[in-house]
Amino acid sequence: MRTYDWIIVGAGITGAALAYELVKQNFSVLLLEQDKISNNATCYSYGGLAFWSGTTPLTRQLCQEGIARHRILSTELDADTEFRELDLLLTIPQDSDRQAVVSNYNRFATPPQLLTVTEACELEPLLNREAISGALTIKHGHIHPAKTAQAYIQAFLRHGGTMEIGRVQQLQSISSPNDDLPTCTGVKTTSETYHSSNVVICAGGYSRQLLKASGIKIKLYFTHAEMIATLPVDLKLHTLVMPAQLKRFQLEANSTKSDRPWEEPGNQPAPPILDPGVVQFLDGSLRWGQISRTLTDPFAEVDPNTSETALRQSIGEVIPAIKNIPGTWHHCLVAFSQDSLPLIGEIPAWQGLHVFSGFSNPLVIVPPLAQKFANFITGKDDQAIAQFQPSRFL
Ligand SMILES: Cc1cc2nc3c(=O)[nH]c(=O)nc-3n(C[C@H](O)[C@H](O)[C@H](O)COP(=O)(O)OP(=O)(O)OC[C@H]3O[C@@H](n4cnc5c(N)ncnc54)[C@H](O)[C@@H]3O)c2cc1C
Repeated sequence: MRTYDWIIVGAGITGAALAYELVKQNFSVLLLEQDKISNNATCYSYGGLAFWSGTTPLTRQLCQEGIARHRILSTELDADTEFRELDLLLTIPQDSDRQAVVSNYNRFATPPQLLTVTEACELEPLLNREAISGALTIKHGHIHPAKTAQAYIQAFLRHGGTMEIGRVQQLQSISSPNDDLPTCTGVKTTSETYHSSNVVICAGGYSRQLLKASGIKIKLYFTHAEMIATLPVDLKLHTLVMPAQLKRFQLEANSTKSDRPWEEPGNQPAPPILDPGVVQFLDGSLRWGQISRTLTDPFAEVDPNTSETALRQSIGEVIPAIKNIPGTWHHCLVAFSQDSLPLIGEIPAWQGLHVFSGFSNPLVIVPPLAQKFANFITGKDDQAIAQFQPSRFL
């Protein structure tokens, strides 16, 4: 019977980055993923790196470390993450108060610059000038998120890590007679039991439900996100387009005022929202979205036809040329926390059971935080990991 030092559940960007950083510290690591072909938030993400958006000394520092790490990641992992910088265009609708929108952005480390309608259309010629009263712009980082996760996984395997496909159903634990706290000893999938000294849950939007299956309550939530992906197209988008007033963050705040609706499936603590945004990847494919729903059942079904119509209608108002491009609707879960900061560290009242999830906009800060987590568990003090402990919500 093999006992790993660490088992990581979930091979999206969080699990992939953490698996790599732990194996680099010479731990024996098993990465467990339920799907053979990725079907997760990482592979449907836009891939934006908002390195300019820190609002506190800690998040500013993480953003700086994150962008520095992304700049060298392709070399370190020996695979192309498609890192680049591009112009982010944050659209301000016709009926909005431009000054109020601008002042909302003043809290960021580098506030974006206000553009007139004409300037915005020069930067993004596909923009519908009738739909906006202006826009904000800033240099944004960009990666191919699925290729980045794969690059981490391949580097993890080259360093001696093990990866298996299997759906974790439950945690294995023992209670020692001398100690009140249960100790996690591994996980059980549909077909195997795996043993380890430590388990980290990196299951994104499924983390809450997975922990609940073992009787553990945690203040980690999820949205059902919907978007459309296309094959490479001839049309050329020059910027990553998003609304300046993202409704998703308000949805996250509104839906977590009380934990009670989240304790059972079948609830929807706040109405769904749609933030029209689009990005083009280096191969010419497009990804546009995004509907977010706070359905408390992670397996709730949504009607793809109604959603696709809404997604096409809303992007068509901003970038009319995209509205009728053939594409495929996708759905995934995206994890978030009550304070928009991740939950990183040991789960309260447990030993050997950790979480690394709940990042709202994780792509820029996951690489440095995965490194910091690996350093932290080898005994190095770290401010970020200390502040992101799940126990802050007790
Ligand atoms: C349309 C869209 C656009 C986005 N744009 C951006 C952006 O521009 N910038 C940004 O920073 N973020 C963005 N995000 C958010 C970001 O992509 C996600 O938050 C992030 O990728 C989540 O990574 P993760 O590893 O936590 O979760 P996931 O990528 O969902 O990975 C979790 C993995 O765990 C596995 N898993 C779950 N349960 C089990 C189990 N029981 N056993 C085994 N495996 C399990 C799943 O199969 C999955 O592979 C966007 C998201 C969407 C949907």
